[in-house]
Amino acid sequence: MPPRINIRLRFPLATNLHFTHRTMSTIPTTMKALLIHKQGGPEEIKLETIPVPTLGEGEVLVKVNYAGVNFIDTYLRGGLYPVALPFTLGQEAAGTLVAVHESVKDSKLSVGDKVVAYVGGSYAEYVKVPAGKVFAIPSGVKTSEAAGVLTQGLTALTMLRESHAVKKGDWIVVHAAAGGVGLNLCQIASHFGAHVIGTTSTLEKAELARQNGAEIVVVGGKEGELQAAVNKATDGQGVIAIFDGVGKATFDVNWEILARKGTFVTFGNASGPPPEFSPLKLVKGNWKITRPTLNNFIFTPEEFHTYAAELFQLMHDKHVRLLISHVAPFTAEGLVEAHALLTGRQTVGKLVVEVSKDE
Ligand code: NDP
Repeated sequence: MPPRINIRLRFPLATNLHFTHRTMSTIPTTMKALLIHKQGGPEEIKLETIPVPTLGEGEVLVKVNYAGVNFIDTYLRGGLYPVALPFTLGQEAAGTLVAVHESVKDSKLSVGDKVVAYVGGSYAEYVKVPAGKVFAIPSGVKTSEAAGVLTQGLTALTMLRESHAVKKGDWIVVHAAAGGVGLNLCQIASHFGAHVIGTTSTLEKAELARQNGAEIVVVGGKEGELQAAVNKATDGQGVIAIFDGVGKATFDVNWEILARKGTFVTFGNASGPPPEFSPLKLVKGNWKITRPTLNNFIFTPEEFHTYAAELFQLMHDKHVRLLISHVAPFTAEGLVEAHALLTGRQTVGKLVVEVSKDE
C-alpha cells in the first residue's frame, strides 16, 4: 500500500481529537469485501481480503455500516451488465466519513460525520466515493435507513419528476408495487396526487402496496385483469404513465393499457430484459418510451444533492416510509441468501447488508 500522505483531516486537532485520533489510528490497510472474480450464479460471491482504497482527487473514504441490496446486484453478478473483474458488488452505503482527500473543498463534509453515499463497491468495510456523491445523514434518520432509502427512493423520485412528471389526477401503473422501488413509487406518486394502479404477485404484497398509496392492485398477472382494471378506473382512456421494473414479462400488456400520449417508463429487468421493437409501435397513441437510469438523473453533485435533500425531506414528512424487510449479515452466504430472496420474488420493500456495527 502506498503511504496515505495525501489525506487531510478536516477538523482541527484541538477540537476534534476523538475523530482525528480514530481516523489516524484505525484505518487499516486491508479490508473484507464481497466480490466476484467471474460473472455467474450466486456461488461466485466471495468474501475476501483486499486493500482499503487509496483516495484520489476529489474523493472521500467511508467506513461502511450498512449497504443496500438492489436488484441491479444480480445483473452485475449474473452477466446481464458487463463489469471489470474482480468486481466488488453493492450500489450504496451508509456509515462514517473517515478521511477526506486534501483536494476536496466542500466545507459541509467533516471527518466523523454520518453519511450516505451513492457508490459502487459498497459491500466492503471501506468505500471511496467522489465527494459529490456523499450526503450527510439528517438527524433522526438511522444509518440503516439512509442506506436503505437512497437508491430506490432516488430512482422513484427522479422518475416521477423527469421520466413522467406526475401531476395531480394522473392515473399511472406501477408494476412490482410492493418491491423496493415499487413502494417508493406508490408513496411518492400518491403524495404528488396521482392515482396508482399497482401490480403484485401475492395478496400480501397487494395489501402492502395499498397501505403505501396504491388505490387499486391487480394480483397475480392473470390474462386480461390489468386491462380490465385500467379500463374501469380510467373510463377506457388508459393510464398516462407506466413505471415498469419487471421488463420482459410485462412488456406486451403495457401497450394495451397506455393512454393516448402516454409514457412507458421501462427502468429494469427483474423478469429479463424487454425485447427490441420498432418505433412504429409508438404511432398508435403518440406514445413515448424512456429507459432511465438513476445515474443520469443525479450525475452532477448539484443534481445528487438536490434530489437527496428532497428525498430526505419526504422521509422526514413521512411521505416516504422505509420498510426494511431483511438484514443480511456481511458474509458470502448472507448476500447469496439476499439475492435468492430477491430473484425468488420473496421480498417486499428493502434489503440491507449490515457490514459493521453502527457506533
Ligand atoms: P424489487 O424489490 O422490486 O424486486 C423485484 C420484484 O419484481 C419482485 O419482488 C417481484 O415482485 C417482481 N418480479 C416480477 N417478475 C419477476 C421475476 N421473474 N423475477 C424476479 N422478480 C420479479 O427490486 P428493486 O426495487 O431493487 O428493483 C426493482 C426494479 O428496478 C429492478 O428491475 C431494478 O433493476 C430496477 N432499478 C432500476 C434503476 C435504474 O436506475 N434504472 C435503479 C434501481 C432499480 P412481484 O412478486 O410482486 O411480482
